[in-house]
Amino acid sequence: MSGCIFCKIAAGEVPAQIVKKGDGIIAFADMNPQAPTHLLIIPTMHIGSLIDAKDPQLLGKMLAFARDLAKEKGIETRGYRIVVNTNPDGGQTVFHLHLHLIGGRVMNWPPG
Ligand code: AMP
Ligand code: ZN
Repeated sequence: MSGCIFCKIAAGEVPAQIVKKGDGIIAFADMNPQAPTHLLIIPTMHIGSLIDAKDPQLLGKMLAFARDLAKEKGIETRGYRIVVNTNPDGGQTVFHLHLHLIGGRVMNWPPG
């Protein structure tokens, strides 16, 4: 979608530190990391948010992709968090569906 920063990253039009590519999915480093490991997993096609994601298979693939990436990045044993901020109350600021994969430190609960 024109004007969408994550579509531009997926298309290679905006630079990002890409860490993994899959079938219709890519992962790259968050530009404002909240932990030693902070990666974003996105579908390469534009989907505005979790609410707009009609394909449960894609959602499953994204989750498995994030899980595999966590293992590859060495944060599986200590643990990690996967977050999907959705709409303004959920803290979503970029309206292209993404999973945050966050690890490398202890996570707090309840979240802020
Ligand atoms: P959210 O608030 O859940 O929508 O998360 C959006 C995330 O995207 C934030 O953590 C931002 O730091 C990150 N972000 C925004 N623009 C970029 C970019 N060009 N490259 C990498 N990360 C970005
Ligand atoms: Zn997009």
